[in-house]
Amino acid sequence: TKRMRIDKLLAHMGLGTRSEIKKAVKLGKVAVDGRIIKDSGLIIDPEQAEVAFDGEPVVYRNIVYFMLNKPQGVISATEDGRERTVIDLLELEDRLRDPFPVGRLDKDTVGLLLLTNDGQLAHELLSPRKHVAKTYEALVQGDVGEQDKQLFASGVTLDDGYVTMPAELRIANREQRDEHIYSTVTLTIMEGKFHQVKRMFEAVGKKVVYLKRVSMGPLQLDESLPEGSYRELREDEIELLR
Ligand code: URA
Repeated sequence: TKRMRIDKLLAHMGLGTRSEIKKAVKLGKVAVDGRIIKDSGLIIDPEQAEVAFDGEPVVYRNIVYFMLNKPQGVISATEDGRERTVIDLLELEDRLRDPFPVGRLDKDTVGLLLLTNDGQLAHELLSPRKHVAKTYEALVQGDVGEQDKQLFASGVTLDDGYVTMPAELRIANREQRDEHIYSTVTLTIMEGKFHQVKRMFEAVGKKVVYLKRVSMGPLQLDESLPEGSYRELREDEIELLR
């Protein structure tokens, strides 16, 4: 492995932001090879050094974060007997880090999917109590109007009786094609029930024909990523998520 700064390593392991780590070092909370260190810029070999934070050993694991622009036709799981999964889209060396998708997109849904081996972050992003906002662009068969906006804002009843939390609907465009009207919309929801977006439109008598996720919490889909490709998150994107 590469040698790296101790503050970078500890931030990477999820022990705080770079500035929180700097403070912790100043307070004498970080030890390397049994000695309290004073320099948060100390360069170490993460696989050799014995690092302790607040007296607890820090076990080195290479945490990775990938942003995938999920294409249609692959499923959001790590393994499947017959179907292609999002993990199959990764290069071998990235697959070896054991990333898993944070939440799910339907097989026919495209767009932003975060893949990581950081279980703690995944847990926080998926926790129903955290109400992490997810924004989708959708093409909907039907004439989506002001009334739907109001219904979504107050909550609609899904087929199983569940009443959705307030969601924000924006209408970008409506056009006639063949004998149908199609509406292009953006919808932000704060929860993630099974097939939620599709079922919300079903609840108002309309049908989603194309669905793309463009953001999850503070993380935005990089529109320069072609469908099926992925890249590592930048440091600033990782910090936003924490
Ligand atoms: N809502 C859906 O209906 N499908 C998805 O893939 C994501 C949100």
